Amino acid sequence: KTAVVLFTRDLRVRDHPALAAACANAERVLPLYVLDPELAGRSPNRDRFLHQCLADLRDALRKRGADLLIRRGDPVAETIRLARDVGAEGVAISGDISRYARRRERRLRAECDRHRIALRIFPGLTIVDPGAVTPAGGDHYKVFTPYHRAWLGAKWRDEVATPRRITLPSGLDAGHLPAPPAGESPDTAAGGEGEARRRLRDWLRRVDRYQENHDALALDATSHLSAYLRFGCLSPLSVANAVDDPDGAFVRQLCWRDFYHQVALAFPDLSTVAYRRGVREDWRYDPETLARWQEGSTGVPLVDAGMRQLRQEGWMHNRARLVVADYLTKHLELDWREGLRWFYRWLIDGDVANNSGNWQWTAGTGNDTRPYRRFNPLRQAERYDPEGEYVNRYAPR
Ligand code: FAD
Repeated sequence: KTAVVLFTRDLRVRDHPALAAACANAERVLPLYVLDPELAGRSPNRDRFLHQCLADLRDALRKRGADLLIRRGDPVAETIRLARDVGAEGVAISGDISRYARRRERRLRAECDRHRIALRIFPGLTIVDPGAVTPAGGDHYKVFTPYHRAWLGAKWRDEVATPRRITLPSGLDAGHLPAPPAGESPDTAAGGEGEARRRLRDWLRRVDRYQENHDALALDATSHLSAYLRFGCLSPLSVANAVDDPDGAFVRQLCWRDFYHQVALAFPDLSTVAYRRGVREDWRYDPETLARWQEGSTGVPLVDAGMRQLRQEGWMHNRARLVVADYLTKHLELDWREGLRWFYRWLIDGDVANNSGNWQWTAGTGNDTRPYRRFNPLRQAERYDPEGEYVNRYAPR
């Protein structure tokens, strides 16, 4: 038997249910990644990170006797073409929630059915599958606290074994990875499962102090795993299991990630349409003020530091994200979608569920139960950057 595993944003070999199942059930497995022109160019930082992830995944597969086949074009057409060329009986893929991913999955299903190829969809994107826990009488949780309770009570799947050897059919053209794209930010993290695992090991030595220090801007005491979770270099389940403290503050943040994924599944317009109507719809239009916010020259030190960190690193501390987003929407009264778009261009961890969910939360149009709250950026700085170290690092005067 032969199976194709179509990789998307699950760029790892460990705890990869689709890959593990294909290796268990088929003699020959074709790991495939299709460079999709529709997705390229949205964020040079993410394009570069993706390239590093693919190079690393290719190495990991080669060490196991296989390769990562690279194709370019429409992922559905390329998958079917490859499956038919080698006479594959099955295609395996990890389930995903964005509108784009679900459309791709529906099209893939239709084409597989037409060619009598079995399509199997596997978990792994989140810890608890989006839609697996629902409130009585609803299709998703709108408020985090009850979701968190249900999530802790849900049965988590078991991690799957990493395939030791993977056999490719012979005589295939592996395809080449194009030259690495340039990216935009000078100080970005490097992509790939290998790097992700090094960072996770390092993080496990510090995670005990997360609760205490996660908001202290100068300490920079969060995991920096978000981009690796975004591209699936780590399965979120394996991160939660490695930390082994389900009730702790860190795993609670992983639950926020799951939370927004189940919101985005139920409300596919999360990145463009107010989730909660009637709080605020009349945003100001002011391109010059917007540009100053984007450049980090508003004159508010903490806001400017956050915005400059974003451009320098393709990442921003969560406390700073909250402050800059609150400042854009509640002080400058500019549309949250402008902020979302800017973040989406620069953030390596930028994804539909977390970016949109958090932007709507701060704008008051989302899942916050206190939509009219507003931060004072000077007080935030006194509290979370009392010595001004973070500000001096990114926006020195
Ligand atoms: P840690 O504090 O170490 O947390 C561990 C993991 O939990 C993160 O890697 C992330 O996967 C998850 N997580 C933490 N906080 C949140 C949260 N509030 N919502 C959802 N998941 C969370 N996160 C993204 O991954 N992608 C985005 O596009 C994104 N956009 C954001 C936009 C705004 C306006 C705000 C306020 C927050 C946004 N976040 C986003 C959430 C959060 O800021 C980042 O996940 C976090 O800063 C990443 O750093 P870390 O890995 O060190 O996080």
